[in-house]
Amino acid sequence: MAYRWFNWQVDITCEASGFFVPANESELVDFVKYHYPRKTLLRPVGNGHGFGNLTTCVNDGETERDSYILSLTNLKDLQIHENDTVTFGGGWDLVDLIPTLHSHGLQVQNLGSEKVQNYIGASTTGTHGTGKQNQNLANQIIGLRVLDAKGNIHVIDKDHNLEAFRVAIGALGIIVEVTIKVEPLSWLKRTSKVVEGSSNITELYQQIARYGDQYEQVNILGPNLIWDPSTQQLVPSTNLTLVYWEETDFHGTPNCSIDFCSNDCGRCNRDYHCYDYKMDGIATTPPGICYRGFMGQFEHFLPIENLPDAGVDYFHHALSQSDRMISYQNINELIAAEGMARYESDEVTVITRFVKGDETWLSPVNTHNLKPNASGIFATLEYSWIPSYNNFTLQWFYQDLLSEFIPKFGETYNVRPHWNKMLFNNETYTSTIYPKLSDWLAIQEQMDPQCQFVNPFLVNSLGLDRCRSLFE
Ligand SMILES: Cc1cc2nc3c(=O)[nH]c(=O)nc-3n(C[C@H](O)[C@H](O)[C@H](O)COP(=O)(O)OP(=O)(O)OC[C@H]3O[C@@H](n4cnc5c(N)ncnc54)[C@H](O)[C@@H]3O)c2cc1C
Repeated sequence: MAYRWFNWQVDITCEASGFFVPANESELVDFVKYHYPRKTLLRPVGNGHGFGNLTTCVNDGETERDSYILSLTNLKDLQIHENDTVTFGGGWDLVDLIPTLHSHGLQVQNLGSEKVQNYIGASTTGTHGTGKQNQNLANQIIGLRVLDAKGNIHVIDKDHNLEAFRVAIGALGIIVEVTIKVEPLSWLKRTSKVVEGSSNITELYQQIARYGDQYEQVNILGPNLIWDPSTQQLVPSTNLTLVYWEETDFHGTPNCSIDFCSNDCGRCNRDYHCYDYKMDGIATTPPGICYRGFMGQFEHFLPIENLPDAGVDYFHHALSQSDRMISYQNINELIAAEGMARYESDEVTVITRFVKGDETWLSPVNTHNLKPNASGIFATLEYSWIPSYNNFTLQWFYQDLLSEFIPKFGETYNVRPHWNKMLFNNETYTSTIYPKLSDWLAIQEQMDPQCQFVNPFLVNSLGLDRCRSLFE
C-alpha cells in the first residue's frame, strides 16, 4: 500500500502509508468514518501542480499515525442548472471540465495560465489569472459540499461560511462537490507586443505601472536577469513583452491555443495577435506546456499602489545576488562531460499580473487590511529562478534566495505569497496578512478536531498550535 507522491517537477515528495481512490462519495464517507477513531492523516490531492509543501502528505513513520493520500478522480458527476451555475464532483480537472462546459455553451469567468490543475486544487488555493476586474477562481464558487474528519457532510453556501471555505487549502476537510457561477461562451483577441523598457529600473517600474493602468487584462513579461559568464554577474534585460486580452466579436478561426507562448512554448518576445474562445485564449492545455525542468518560484500579491516601489526593490535585491550565484553557474564542463540536456533560459524571470481583490478570508488578495483609500486591486510579482539543468543543490539554493523576500519586503509592501508556490512565512506574518485567520482556525478545529488534515507546512504557516505536538 505504501505510496510515494511527487509534485509536478519532482522536487517535492512524500511517502504515504497508502493511496485511496474511492469509487464514489459513499465509499469515501465510509473510509473517513473508519479512520476517524484511528486518527489517520488524510491528504486529498489534485494534480500536484504546486511549488511548495502545501499538498505534501505526512511521511509514513514520521508520526505514530497512518497517513493516506486521497484522489477524488472518480467523483465526476456534473449537473448544469438553468441559472448559469454548474455543480460538479471533486474529480474534475480543468483539461476535461473546460471542454465539457464548452460543449454546453459555457465557460468560467477566468483561469490561470494552464488547464492542468484539478478545479478544487486550483480554486481553493487562490489560483488566479490576470485582469483588474478579474478575481481569482475561488470567487467563482458559490457552494461546496465538504466532508469533515468524522465523515459528516457540510453544505457551505453564502449563508454558511462561504468566505471561509473558498480558500480552504486542503485543511478544512475533503471537498467532494462544488457549485460555481458560469457564463456564456465569449471570444477574446490576444495581442503580444514587445516594448523597449527603460534601463533605469525606477523608470522601468513606473512604465510597468502605466501599462497596468492602461490595459484592463495584461501580463507583463520581464524584466529578466541573464547570467554573463565573462563578468560572472547577472545582467538586467529590460525589454518587456506585453500580452493583453480584449473582448472581440470577431469569431474567425480560433488560433490562440496553437501558439501559446506561456510556459516556454515558442518565442514570446515577438509581436502577434490571435483570436479564440476565452478559455483557450487565456490558458494553455497540458500538451502545450514545454518546460518541465526545475524552477524555484514565488508569486507575491501586493496592493497595486505599491507596485512601482516594490518592483524596484525586488529587482535590485535579485540583481544583487550575483556573487552568491557564481559557484553554481560554471557548469558547462560538467554538462559536457555528462552529455546532459541543457535548457537555455534566463536565470531569473519576472512576470507581473493583476487581480481584483475579494472578501475570502484566506485569499491572498483579501481586502481586509488595506488602507482606506486603496483601490482593492492587486499586482502580482512572479519571480522564477530557472537552472540550466536539474540539479538539487542549485534548486535548494534558489529556494533559500526565494525565502529572503518576505522578511525583507513583506511588511513594507503588504505582500501576500501564493499558497501553492514557495511560501516560507510563519503564523506571525500570516495573521497580519489574513486578519480573519483566528476565525478560520476555529472552523478548522470544528472540521478537523484531531489534526488529520494537516501537515508540518500547515502547522507552521498557520500557527496550528494544537497540532504541533504531532510532529515533534
Ligand atoms: C507551471 C505552473 C504554472 C502555474 N500557473 C499558475 C497561474 O497562472 N496562476 C496561479 O494562481 N497559479 C498558478 N500555478 C499554481 C497552481 O495553480 C496551484 O499550485 C494549484 O493549487 C495547483 O492545482 P492542483 O490541482 O495541482 O492542486 P494540488 O497541488 O494537488 O492541491 C492543492 C491544494 O488543494 C487541496 N485539495 C485538492 N483537492 C482537494 C479536495 N477535493 N478537497 C480538499 N482539498 C483539496 C490539496 O490538499 C492542496 O492543499 C501554476 C503552477 C505551475 C507548476
